[in-house]
Amino acid sequence: MLAFDSLVAARDAIRSKKISSVELTRQALARIEMLEPQILAYNSTYPDLALKQAAEVDAGRRSGPLAGVPIALKDNLCTTFGTTTCSSKMLENFRAPYDATIVQKLEQAGAVFLGKTNLDEFAMGSSTENSAFKTTRNPWDTSRVPGGSSGGSAAALASGMCCASIGSDTGGSIRQPAALCGVVGLKPTYGRVSRYGLVAFASSLDQIGPFGWNVPDVALLLNVIAGRDARDSTSVPAEVPDHLAELDQPIKGLRIGIAKEYTLESGMDPQVSSAIDAAVKQYRSLGAELVEVSLPHTEYGIAAYYVIAPCEASSNLARYDGVHFGHRTKEPVKDIIELFSKSRAEGFGPEVQRRIMIGTYALSSGYYDAYYVRALKMRTLIQRDFTEAFEKCDVILSPTSPTPAFKAGEKTADPLQMYLCDVFTVTCNIAGIAGISLPCGFTTGDKPLPIGLQLLGPAFSEPRLLRAARMYERSTDWSSRRPKLD
Ligand code: GLN
Repeated sequence: MLAFDSLVAARDAIRSKKISSVELTRQALARIEMLEPQILAYNSTYPDLALKQAAEVDAGRRSGPLAGVPIALKDNLCTTFGTTTCSSKMLENFRAPYDATIVQKLEQAGAVFLGKTNLDEFAMGSSTENSAFKTTRNPWDTSRVPGGSSGGSAAALASGMCCASIGSDTGGSIRQPAALCGVVGLKPTYGRVSRYGLVAFASSLDQIGPFGWNVPDVALLLNVIAGRDARDSTSVPAEVPDHLAELDQPIKGLRIGIAKEYTLESGMDPQVSSAIDAAVKQYRSLGAELVEVSLPHTEYGIAAYYVIAPCEASSNLARYDGVHFGHRTKEPVKDIIELFSKSRAEGFGPEVQRRIMIGTYALSSGYYDAYYVRALKMRTLIQRDFTEAFEKCDVILSPTSPTPAFKAGEKTADPLQMYLCDVFTVTCNIAGIAGISLPCGFTTGDKPLPIGLQLLGPAFSEPRLLRAARMYERSTDWSSRRPKLD
């Protein structure tokens, strides 16, 4: 592994000159060289840029709360360096003319950029198998997927090929890969982090967030990336608290909500259930009060999500036509319509095409009310469920994913099975609230797989949510386990 097991520790070691940023960056680059052939987490790496940024920190020309730590960015975040591909043939050679706000903020905080990580094409998927380029592998068992869509960011971190990483979460794409790779992933409240420069998938659901080895790491990253940005009108002007300040203080009288609708009739792995039961017991022994809550519209979450997200995607992806943006066919065409359709047929992979068709259908005249409007009504009911539940509790606890990492290829033939992976994660985005996933155990067997615990909190409750997560994390050693790769 890298010389440090937390971003905070790495940052402090650079500050106190126990290690130079160049040295740590070299270590990360060496691990990438060694492990990337088997993990396939990065779409592109930038050793020269990283070493230059690191040298500037060492020379005292760059400083800030992340000074000198090497991190990775999901490849749907615009950067003026390198390419921003969204793991799509459509954007294979796209060079963004500007940096995403979050990239600017990380840069100003002194971070070092190692590379851009693989994802499901345009962030649509739960395994990275929808990437046009490659399937990232789970560092705990390389025959399995790392989850998705931010699978590259989660796998790069779990295998020590960076000190932290950034992902995006539209229906679970930070939390689910964090769970499957045994790291911590936070989906901040909608509006907490600017999305300027995040390539849009479903704009009313998308949110950028951090991956870390532990809760303090994601708290530190959230401090850096959160806040109002005039270039994203959905970012909220609420003040950014210091999420690290009271992190280690346990919450007295923490009320943990257990939703009775979160028991699945099928598809739930028994080892996940028992790890979650054990986590609940652990919280009780830490003094938390358990409260039964009801989220009666949970069962419609997947259906509502898989209408709203494709509808918004079909609109957001209309710009990739080979003229305004994206791949242009080299085939002869008779008119502009054929140019559009051939370019789109060549540039988009099967899952993206499926979503565009579902979304276009659901938005079309005659079906709009039956699908899109009904899904929006369901959205209101799901939001209301959470508002009522949070009157009784501070956080809601559930598994992040109903199963541990599955085998590559296991679900690719059946999109519905893939969609069902998101059963515990999508309602958080539908309601615009905050969610975190942290390790809570491992499966048995010769290749133990991590299991993730999800905590959901009301909008802008990140300080309390992180403290609640930290309380549990400190009382176990799950977050410190690493896959054996070297
Ligand atoms: N798995 C979900 C989907 O395929 C979520 C993706 C995401 O959060 N970007 O849409």
